[in-house]
Amino acid sequence: MFGRSLYATFAVVALTATATACGSAEASNASIVDKAKNDKKLVVGVKADQPGLGLRTPDGSFTGFDIEVAKYVAKQLGVEAKDVTFKETVSANREAFIEQGQVDMVVATYSITDARKQKVSFAGPYFVAGQALLVRADDTALTGPDKLNGKKLCSVAGSTPAQKVKAEYAKEVQLQEERTYSACVDRVLGGQLDALTTDNVILAGYAAQYGGKLKVVGQPFSTEKYGIGLKKDDTAGRKAINDALEKMFADGSWTKALQASVGASGFTLPQAPQLERY
Ligand code: GLU
Repeated sequence: MFGRSLYATFAVVALTATATACGSAEASNASIVDKAKNDKKLVVGVKADQPGLGLRTPDGSFTGFDIEVAKYVAKQLGVEAKDVTFKETVSANREAFIEQGQVDMVVATYSITDARKQKVSFAGPYFVAGQALLVRADDTALTGPDKLNGKKLCSVAGSTPAQKVKAEYAKEVQLQEERTYSACVDRVLGGQLDALTTDNVILAGYAAQYGGKLKVVGQPFSTEKYGIGLKKDDTAGRKAINDALEKMFADGSWTKALQASVGASGFTLPQAPQLERY
């Protein structure tokens, strides 16, 4: 008798354990749409050291255009701004953070590329930037990518600008790869390196931050379409985020957010881009 009920108890425990395991496996594959609806919370990967785009302020909160885009999209998915947790990502860990479920989406000056699409998917683009150079204000020689011969360049590991330098300028320049762009800025300001190369809109933020000490040079020499990264197979999530972006473009919130965050740097503000739904 006792043996039977003990067996029954084990059976129930075993069943419950299986059910729980299935439940959590499902949850990790669930669309961001369901996650937002059920949990009323989201974790968003953003940059923490890029003024105007994604910046952690001394009180620990985050500001910038990417933050505003993330909050708007979250709200459309049913999550209030106060229930969005921002988590710092650097260029090299964005795909991994999405794949491992450490973040629900990434809004971090994140270019849509075919290589990245092997691992994650993208809604957007919500902004188009282009690669340029940031040099010391008194540098009159380094005026663009055609003057890079013999120069010491800095960029960030895992970024598209670093890749472009390695692919196209490897013979003429020495490339130092840092973990963050702010580390590069320090090295250019300190005179150890000649220039930082990444997207013009990021560089404009640093030039404004160090007013008079740094300047952006060179016509943009790449096209960087910023997307919102999410799990690779989350088709419903991609559609919902694209719908949210479309609404943000149409109701004036996109322009307002861009003016309020990036506008201060003097960067020429573009029109909202065309979404590339797939
Ligand atoms: N947009 C480029 C990229 O996604 C450069 C900026 C960045 O590293 O975040 O790699």
